[in-house]
Amino acid sequence: MARKTNARNKERRSQRGPGRPKGSTNADPDVNTVEPSRCKRCGSTRRGDYYGKTEQAFQGVQDGLPFTHIVRRRTKCLDCGQARIDRAFENRLGE
Ligand SMILES: [Zn+2]
Repeated sequence: MARKTNARNKERRSQRGPGRPKGSTNADPDVNTVEPSRCKRCGSTRRGDYYGKTEQAFQGVQDGLPFTHIVRRRTKCLDCGQARIDRAFENRLGE
């Protein structure tokens, strides 16, 4: 079913040419750079892929900023091998 939709979209796109569809809002995004997490033991930013992501809906304030979710991602330092959890306090919609 997704395949049919893709074919249709491709057709529309070729009729229309490149760029966003008529009437869509002008997205001119700012870019925020997010600092990489560090190993507490050796300071390295080299890590394995994230695994075991969990999301906890929980409202609170962290460093003066309100949040709605705590997101935890497991990873492992590629330099010293120490496992760690990268924890993020996110303020957003969603489950
Ligand atoms: Zn390390």
